[in-house]
Amino acid sequence: MAQNQDSSVQGAFDLAAITEPPQEVVERARELRQTIEHARELYYQQDAPELSDAAYDSLERELENLEREYPSLATPDSPTQRVGGGVSQQFAPVQHAVRMYSLEDAMDLNELDAWLERTHAAVGHPVQYCCELKIDGSSIALTYDHGKLIRAATRGDGAVGEDITANVLNVKDVPTELSAASGAGDFPNRIEIRGECYMPKASFNRLNAAIAADNDEIIQHNAEIDAGNATGRHMALKKPFANCRNAAAGSLRQKDPKITASRDLATFIYAIADQSMVPVASQHEFLAWLKEAGFVVNPNIRVVNGEKAVHEFCADALAHRDGLGYDIDGVVVKVDDFATQDSLGFTAKAPRWAIAFKYPPEEKTTILRNIAVQVGRTGALTPVAEFDPTTVDGSVISRATLHNFDELARKDVRIGDTIIIHKAGDVIPEVVGHVPELRPKESVPLQEPTTCPSCGSPVFRDGAFLRCDSAECPAQLQERLEHWVSRGAMDIDGLGTKVIENMIAEGILHDVVDFYHLDVETLANVSRGELKKDGTPRTVGLTVARKVMRQIEASRQQPFANVLFGIGIRNIGKTTAEAIARAFGNIDALMDATVPQLCQVEGIGEIVGESVVEFFETQANRDLVERLRQAGLTLEEDMSEIKPQTLAGYTFVLTGTLEHYDRTQAEELLRSWGAKASGSVSKKTSFVVAGPGAGSKLVKAQTLGIPVLDEEALVKIIETGQVPAED
Ligand code: AMP
Repeated sequence: MAQNQDSSVQGAFDLAAITEPPQEVVERARELRQTIEHARELYYQQDAPELSDAAYDSLERELENLEREYPSLATPDSPTQRVGGGVSQQFAPVQHAVRMYSLEDAMDLNELDAWLERTHAAVGHPVQYCCELKIDGSSIALTYDHGKLIRAATRGDGAVGEDITANVLNVKDVPTELSAASGAGDFPNRIEIRGECYMPKASFNRLNAAIAADNDEIIQHNAEIDAGNATGRHMALKKPFANCRNAAAGSLRQKDPKITASRDLATFIYAIADQSMVPVASQHEFLAWLKEAGFVVNPNIRVVNGEKAVHEFCADALAHRDGLGYDIDGVVVKVDDFATQDSLGFTAKAPRWAIAFKYPPEEKTTILRNIAVQVGRTGALTPVAEFDPTTVDGSVISRATLHNFDELARKDVRIGDTIIIHKAGDVIPEVVGHVPELRPKESVPLQEPTTCPSCGSPVFRDGAFLRCDSAECPAQLQERLEHWVSRGAMDIDGLGTKVIENMIAEGILHDVVDFYHLDVETLANVSRGELKKDGTPRTVGLTVARKVMRQIEASRQQPFANVLFGIGIRNIGKTTAEAIARAFGNIDALMDATVPQLCQVEGIGEIVGESVVEFFETQANRDLVERLRQAGLTLEEDMSEIKPQTLAGYTFVLTGTLEHYDRTQAEELLRSWGAKASGSVSKKTSFVVAGPGAGSKLVKAQTLGIPVLDEEALVKIIETGQVPAED
């Protein structure tokens, strides 16, 4: 039954649980994780998403499906196991007294029905639901002490949020004092009320119009300076907000509360951290209580019985969506009765008693005009669809990756086709398929290239990819250099694609080490690829060149992990680079590492291990390392804070409730001694730590004969870095 199921194990005894995923699945999962983490960072930390919500959901969903099929992929640090969001340094952290959960998603009616059925079965009798709109804003938690607002916080990662009290005090409809009639003032303890802070559509449009007007003035101002009619500095353009939700999140997370005050935010409140504190027994009664206490509650709720009535609410909400003064991204269906909610409980990420029915992503059709072939940093040839500019989820797109030639063959899209596109996948939109009826008669599939479009060298097959392995290939060099200066690597600002391209063309850059032999004058004279009004090329200029040179200088201090990431070993993302740097400590140890040694490191499998070994087997790469060493780059880890890796080679699975730590914390501590922490039990598991309430994972451990430890033993391991001696 649903309430007994451990969240990350699906069907504890099915064979898939011990089937290792094929290489392309591992790679896809890794790609998805990186993209999702990156999207979360942009979304929650920077309030500047590059992905539409629907696209983000579809990526998260794809990863969930892969992890369901291959449970060994579902490591505890996977984004599917954690609530999105994090905590910015800008605000004081707030520990939520009770975790703030996310919601499970249903992407279509079938998934919604499956949840309704599951819930019905788990409860054992027909269930009454409270249907609400899913407000597209930013979660807030409001703490009241004897009826007075004392703190407001964001959701953050669910356990810790950010203190945004000063800002929320400027959201007009949040009561600073609760009405006496609700009785909340007499509550003996603090109460934490939760809901959504949103920006009404009209305010959002006004805000973006004001940003556009400011930008017009900035463009004018910059042009005056260029024309010599004014003195001063160029001003940067302001970025408009992508949607109401980000405008709300961005406005709530301002350093200056006056800005929040000017942004016209509003709230709909719908939850409380501890339901036992209010004198009601169901969600709909609770919503009425909230109103009485002085909160704004969304009026569009319906208490219903049965699948049909839930569907009707979803359809009605969708039909009225455009007429609402605020954005919604779906419907939330909640089990109404609090006691029934309690019996269903929570998974690691979300309550089992609620589901978010999300509206489908926007799909558009357009004509495919060309399939270009791009050469990446590691020489992989990527077909890219070029199509008529089309607005999808609020932004205009005209290119989309087709990933590789197998994918192109599978999708079978051809130049001239009417293709279906949506936004999915990092900044790059995705081609979903084509409309067969609209295919031009004369169309033919694109032939796989036999030579590299950049350097003309023959290409070879490498799994799903076509690859050019010429060391001289300019397209690869361009990508490698751009990667080296990127944020997770050396973080050198001010060297755009064009400048790097021109530096390659002028013979200034042959590899990344050349950055460290640059001088200000040479860089200042490089063309930026634009012409000035008088027709002469615009160059980088002394001011920018000095700034870039300072950053190049500073990049020598970037940590070892950044260098490792920057040199562009295939399959090594930033997290993997960090794990490798910690495990091996310096480049010399790493250059001598074998695949089995690499596989001891958390998160590293054979493919990644082989990529590392292959990379250092190439003499040119070893030479590169030597030259980086001479240039003064950091090639060893700062070991002062690193524990001996005494638990390397041991894999732990934690299950049930822990008293001393939360699970993520305990896993992190185990990892700091070099152990692996996994979300599912397999033959490879060394120990299962089972706290009270452990379910299917414990059973599976017993079936496979894996040693089971209690929390006391775990504490000892974490303190000493030693596993218990065998009996
Ligand atoms: P997601 O951010 O997609 O994980 O969806 C979960 C979020 O939906 C919650 O954290 C809330 O911030 C938000 N939400 C919006 N409206 C509601 C509602 N009526 N009930 C519960 N959560 C809601």
